[in-house]
Amino acid sequence: MNITNLKILLIEDDIADADWIREILGEENFFELQLKHVKRVREALEVLSQDSFDVILLDLSLPDSQGIESLAQVKQKAPESPIVVLTALNDQNIAIQLVREGAQDYLVKGRFEGELLVRSICYAIERQHTEVTLRQQALMKKMLDRIRQSLNLTDILSSTVAEVRQFLKTDRVLIYRCESGSSGEIITESIEPNNSAQSCEIQFIPDIANLFIPDSNLPDSSYFKAIEDVVSVPQLDPYTLAEHQIRSILTLPIWRNPSINYRYEPLAWLNDPNTTKKQNNDQLWGMLVAHNFTTPRKWLDWEIEFLQQLTTQVTIAIQQSELYLQLQDANRQLERLAISDGLTGIANRRYFDQVLKNEWQRLAREKKSLSLILCDIDYFKLYNDTYGHPAGDACLRTVTKTLQESTRRPADLVARYGGEEFAIILPDTNADGALFIANKIRQQLEKLKLPHGKSLVSDYITLSMGIATQIPHWDSTPAVLVDRADNALYQAKQQGRNQVVQG
Ligand code: GH3
Ligand code: MG
Ligand code: MG
Repeated sequence: MNITNLKILLIEDDIADADWIREILGEENFFELQLKHVKRVREALEVLSQDSFDVILLDLSLPDSQGIESLAQVKQKAPESPIVVLTALNDQNIAIQLVREGAQDYLVKGRFEGELLVRSICYAIERQHTEVTLRQQALMKKMLDRIRQSLNLTDILSSTVAEVRQFLKTDRVLIYRCESGSSGEIITESIEPNNSAQSCEIQFIPDIANLFIPDSNLPDSSYFKAIEDVVSVPQLDPYTLAEHQIRSILTLPIWRNPSINYRYEPLAWLNDPNTTKKQNNDQLWGMLVAHNFTTPRKWLDWEIEFLQQLTTQVTIAIQQSELYLQLQDANRQLERLAISDGLTGIANRRYFDQVLKNEWQRLAREKKSLSLILCDIDYFKLYNDTYGHPAGDACLRTVTKTLQESTRRPADLVARYGGEEFAIILPDTNADGALFIANKIRQQLEKLKLPHGKSLVSDYITLSMGIATQIPHWDSTPAVLVDRADNALYQAKQQGRNQVVQG
């Protein structure tokens, strides 16, 4: 590893020991050194809330804290900094316990020289770095698995924000989607559960979002905004931001793919090429936002780099689920087309067969009546010959409408059975009920007075109808019912048309 400039925090109450450490580190000439020395854990915690260090050297017996307790406090404050413990005690058990609690190494004072200390520091940094990398990889793998396994965007995004928040140990992580009309909304967020601020109504409104749109004039890898402390940025108004509980903030862009039609159009102001368009014309879909409510926070390079990789995956997940939704829409449309009749829009013969079969089985179980009406327009060939095929089509649509209006129960189904023939499935309907419906249809049609100058039974369009009713049996098929209705229809035709016959 290549360490040239090292920032060390030394927590040591004994001045002589501190001087000795400074001296032996200086003698090594191994690296440029910035050594900050404090004498109490309390002081160390203060320093750590302002600054981060490459390594922390911790004396175990301090006036305000002892042993494991000191380690725990420092570790909690600076979880990502490796800690090397220095102590006067040479106790193997304590050493093991300390390492278990998160110390990277344990050195007994007076028993080491500069070279050993330098080596311990270097290894500590290296190990800590490896641990962090492993954790990052584990998190990335978890996220990737989830993205691969799920097409549910809500699930993917909400687990992303929860895990990113834990990973960064920040107060809040959210995903903000830019909508049209200069607005936007939080799609999902994760808030530190123990933070008192969570009880307040905290918002991330478009005005605020606007301030933190990631820079896009920069090279690709720099598309982000990282502000350690909003108070130190002159263009920002810390009071307004304090109202919105924003002290420190990191935003990363989530791009939309121009080849996908998203449900939400990008904002007009996002189309300004000078602000938010990448060179390759990608547009901002939204952003991943992490922020601390009241404390400043340094956003480390490797954290940003890691989150950039993660947001690339989130972008892919969004695209993937968007395409999946579009595919679902297309499938639904295809399904509808496959079961409906092109001319009239009602169920086609295929769907009729399917529904009849299902109802047959259901009503066999429930031992209830199933009725079927077959209708045929009288002398329709003559109608076509007289008024032309387009007029014939219009007439078929009008008859369809009449049939639909006469059958009101949700389970009733009107289908186009053939050219000018229709079939009506009436579940849980006895013979009287079916006759009632058939007569209603005839009356409704009669009222319409659709002229048919060449009909041999009327001056208007009329229907012949055959009805069959029965309680379905397991041991027979709906074909029995269809045959009976067909025979009844045939009879109606034979007996002079424009009438209903019950078979
Ligand atoms: P019947 O009273 O015995 O039923 O006589 P019909 O003329 O109605 O019966 P036929 O089966 O001889 O003729 C049916 C006619 O329906 C033939 C065709 O011109 C017409 N037809 C079938 N499908 C369509 C369609 O989609 N559009 C139009 N316009 N006409 C159709
Ligand atoms: Mg016919
Ligand atoms: Mg006919």
